[in-house]
Amino acid sequence: MILSLDHAGGAIKIDVLTSKRAKRLRLVSGINGVQAIVPPDYRVEELESFVSAKRDWIIKTSRYYIRLKERCGGGHEPGTIYFLGSKYRFHIVRDRQRSAVVSDAMKVITFHVTDRRKYKEEMQEWYKEQTGKIISERLPALAARLNLQYNKVSIKSQRSRWASCSKKGNLNFNLLLAAAPREVIDYVIIHELMHLIEMDHSIRFWQLVKEADPDYKKHKEWLTSYAPVIKIG
Ligand SMILES: [Zn+2]
Repeated sequence: MILSLDHAGGAIKIDVLTSKRAKRLRLVSGINGVQAIVPPDYRVEELESFVSAKRDWIIKTSRYYIRLKERCGGGHEPGTIYFLGSKYRFHIVRDRQRSAVVSDAMKVITFHVTDRRKYKEEMQEWYKEQTGKIISERLPALAARLNLQYNKVSIKSQRSRWASCSKKGNLNFNLLLAAAPREVIDYVIIHELMHLIEMDHSIRFWQLVKEADPDYKKHKEWLTSYAPVIKIG
């Protein structure tokens, strides 16, 4: 079912999704539009009054995501990758040695690869090196500023997480993190460092993150919005 919310700027479509796990009505706004998550036994009138009570929020967030979608092209475009928050076209060139040349002015990255069929693996290696370089600079600096001590650090291919912190204080970072803007990478580092104090996402945890990164909400949103377009290839 789809609800439509009319306002001065046009109509906003709201996808209604039934979930057995939903205990109450909930609205989610994101790059793919607005969704209402409802329990199987919901009443349409209840949903309609809920939507009209949240009208301002729906208009505000969907405008934000429409603008964001325009900026990031509305989905992953083949032949493009993200690096430090910007979109680059990439070219694959066969060569005897592996290297990559980044042209900031042209927004093009040329990957020199030894085997064209394995270019994705070589791009992954390149991302891992870039992320490793940034983490090795920013992590010690931020940990020193926050007076926190971590254990081991690794840069890995992680499907659904940007980073994680273990009970032993080991930090893992997703090798694709170099796709994000520098301030967003800093946020991810701060987030994991704060897990050294608070393991879960409690109110206190978010307060600590906010103290270290007052713009953390914006940075967190960047990751949510861009996650679908950050891919290799
Ligand atoms: Zn966390």
